[in-house]
Amino acid sequence: MRKCFLIFMSIMIMALMMSPVAFANEDGNHMNELYDNDEVVYYDDAAEVHHGEDSVRTGGEMVVLHDIEAMQPEIDEALEIMEEYPVRLILNGEEILFENDVMSPIIIQERTLIPARIVFEAMGGNVVWNEERKEVEVTFGESKVLLTVGSNLAWVGDTARVLDVPAMIVAPRGEIYGNTMIPVRFTAEGLGSTVTWNEDDRIVSITSPTLPDIDYGDENANGYENLNGYENANEEINNGQNDINAGMIHGMPQLPMLNAAAAQRLIVIDPGHGGSDPGAIGGRGTPQELFEKDITLPTSLYLRDFLRASGANVYLIRETDIRITNPERAEIANLLEADLFVSIHVNAWHTPIPNGSEVHFYRQVDEYGRTEGELFGIYSEDVAERIQREMLREFNTFDRGFRNSPGLMILNRTNMPSVIVEAAFLSNPYDFQLIRSANFERRYAHAVARALIESMNAAF
Ligand SMILES: [Zn+2]
Repeated sequence: MRKCFLIFMSIMIMALMMSPVAFANEDGNHMNELYDNDEVVYYDDAAEVHHGEDSVRTGGEMVVLHDIEAMQPEIDEALEIMEEYPVRLILNGEEILFENDVMSPIIIQERTLIPARIVFEAMGGNVVWNEERKEVEVTFGESKVLLTVGSNLAWVGDTARVLDVPAMIVAPRGEIYGNTMIPVRFTAEGLGSTVTWNEDDRIVSITSPTLPDIDYGDENANGYENLNGYENANEEINNGQNDINAGMIHGMPQLPMLNAAAAQRLIVIDPGHGGSDPGAIGGRGTPQELFEKDITLPTSLYLRDFLRASGANVYLIRETDIRITNPERAEIANLLEADLFVSIHVNAWHTPIPNGSEVHFYRQVDEYGRTEGELFGIYSEDVAERIQREMLREFNTFDRGFRNSPGLMILNRTNMPSVIVEAAFLSNPYDFQLIRSANFERRYAHAVARALIESMNAAF
């Protein structure tokens, strides 16, 4: 079995915090500013007001607005339940007591939300509320979590994550002013804390992270150092920054510029696996043991740099060694309204025979029978064909073709044209040597970048 597409479901419990009352008005209708006459209203950076949209772009970031007004009966019910069955919060062994006029923890859709400011300031963190953007930013040491009221898209550092229950402003029963409530597990774990939930006693326990010392901060300045297996890649990447002016990037020729229309499109690059999910393993138990995740990340970082040098608008699903589930990856791309999704993998099989390169795409049509080209202006099949051609040109690997694979989850959960690239087999001795060879990652990335730039310029 290919190991790339194992599905992991993650369970997140969330909590909320608060900030003094952003949206309250005199009649206590505390979300009128966000929801006006049943229409979603949001003020973006340019102070434009959008009505009735599911989402708006603000400063280049996608904000997806959750219909909190529609959730109000559910929130009211939760408030009632909390009076009888309160959730207690223990921070570093000490219980946090909540006054009557502020929100105490509340469970909504099985996620625990806690008042942001009270809890995370008690932890020693910093909580900043941006009234205009309806954002709450929680920092602790070098770690940062950013949530937007009503938005399912949140950020842990520079990584977008999907919430199933968004931050919201909730007032205690009988009170006019609310607190900004945010998911406790998502936020606390994003800051490096440990969170446990005791179901029987309804107690959430948070243990603060240890602040990194000064040396640690320096070593992690670029965010992806200090991870097993990436030291060489980083060195190469850092060296590569210097030769952009020479028409080379990371020692590879700079590629043609994207045309203006193509440069407007958003390409999401997905480095396969990561964190506790190593992906396929080559040379298992030998000194050459190699994890798929240690190939996909540097390749994706190179790919990002090659594409950006050609003017592309690129977002990376992960830039560090963290685990993100496949459904989350697809949902992030959907929330960002990407135009193209490219997932980077290397292959494996349970026998050493299969070898070569293959690219998967999904010839997707929507419920009205509209094709990818009609909806997005570009076809995943065309992108896959060009990538496969460039992979064979680069590596002279066995041609396993480009394949319509509607059963692959990451392809069928993404709304936009999507491809999965499988460069070669970790389980095949010949391919394994290729994958271990010098510059494999940057050559892989360059081949994919050539094909993407060609595809985008042809399509837009
Ligand atoms: Zn994989």
